[in-house]
Amino acid sequence: MAQFKLQNVEDFYEIGEILGSGHFGQVRELRERVSGVSWAGKFVKLRRSVSSRLGLERKTVEREVEILQALQHNNIMALKDVFESRAEVVLVVELICGGELFDFIAEKENLMENDAIEFLKQILKGVAFMHNKHIAHFDLKPENIMLSDKKAEHPEIKIIDFGLAQRLTTGEEYRSLCGTPQYIGPEVINYEPLSTASDMWSIGVITYILLSGMSPFQGDSDEETLRNIVDMKYEFEDQYFSQTSDMAKDFIEKLLIKDPSERMTAEECLLHPWIKPLTRKQAANRSRSSINMKNFKKFNARRKWKMSYNMVWACNRLSRLQLLCKRAKEDEELRSCESDQEDIETKPASLIRRRLSSSS
Ligand code: ATP
Repeated sequence: MAQFKLQNVEDFYEIGEILGSGHFGQVRELRERVSGVSWAGKFVKLRRSVSSRLGLERKTVEREVEILQALQHNNIMALKDVFESRAEVVLVVELICGGELFDFIAEKENLMENDAIEFLKQILKGVAFMHNKHIAHFDLKPENIMLSDKKAEHPEIKIIDFGLAQRLTTGEEYRSLCGTPQYIGPEVINYEPLSTASDMWSIGVITYILLSGMSPFQGDSDEETLRNIVDMKYEFEDQYFSQTSDMAKDFIEKLLIKDPSERMTAEECLLHPWIKPLTRKQAANRSRSSINMKNFKKFNARRKWKMSYNMVWACNRLSRLQLLCKRAKEDEELRSCESDQEDIETKPASLIRRRLSSSS
């Protein structure tokens, strides 16, 4: 089982600026006091009680830690240490300085398929490594694909966020409705047994977007997106794919297949002629085809806007929640003055829950 240190993380690391935020806490820069080396710390709030909606259950964090410990690969974020206090767990992980791959690409004037393939190959290598260990990520999307150092001549891909990842056991079925609508496969929506093939669907979606700047199943609402996925409603519209090679489309078509067992595996992808050309003609095709940069930039700008909108929404919700907690505490104090008999443990929580649902 994963070893969580009970010491205070601040005794070993100086806590620095915020690098990012997720659903269950923040990621901050850490500076190791002894060596001066920089790391990142993922601060995850722990759930206080079974009925609480806030924070993560300890066993969920344990699962993420155990999975990261099993995944030592150049293209997967490395875990160094884990600290635990009563309220939170801190995962000390390698600091990834290059930002998201999609942001890096969006800054370019143009990009040939060849260059995009170099990144895709690294994603596939990381994914093949985890799939060989029977681990599925289940949340592959642009936000979780980062670069170690964007100034390097050949920036290295780092896959992050193993919060939804699962170790799959032969003979045991795993189902889940988690994930991000645009990137999940039909088997997730249909609540069918999941496998590593669900990650391959997500890679198909990511590749489609990377080449065209269009999201294959995007509807006007999440419901419509999910319906498009189940109905397999996608096509390569000429106006977005005019610069794309046929081999690239073939690669995507072999991933966006409804039956998960028919999809290419990560190992098979690495041998697909678009990724590993066998003839000079195939290699030449890739270097002549480019990604639809104008549309990709638009897609990325919209994606960033949605991310910051979601963050503002989450912050507003948090401050609303803090206000409700304050009010509930005041109610609690008032009630305990009125009656010493009342159960002050359970009422404030139900009050918060009721108010939350009516305000969300
Ligand atoms: P989510 O709510 O998306 O599931 P999470 O709570 O699991 O998120 P992460 O996705 O792991 O958290 O991290 C949140 C953000 O912090 C990332 O999007 C990224 O911007 C930043 N981040 C995560 N890990 C690192 C790292 N090792 N180095 C630098 N920044 C990081």
